[in-house]
Amino acid sequence: MKTKLDARLLQEAEHFAFRFACEDCVHFDPGSPDAPARCAHGYPPGPRRDQLEIARGEITFCKEFELR
Ligand code: SF4
Repeated sequence: MKTKLDARLLQEAEHFAFRFACEDCVHFDPGSPDAPARCAHGYPPGPRRDQLEIARGEITFCKEFELR
């Protein structure tokens, strides 16, 4: 789901400690030294925690995200 990344979203994300990244999702396997991180549903890497800081214009959220 694509969402416009504007000043209001950034402000509210910080205020409410917004969780949206793969690292916060129950379906995320962080991997090990021998295996890369992956999504248990087989999706390509989704948004990461630093995405709000580096994304420009819009951000794509995963609709299968479930809070860990
Ligand atoms: S379901 Fe979506 S948010 Fe969760 S790990 Fe997979 S790609 Fe990331």
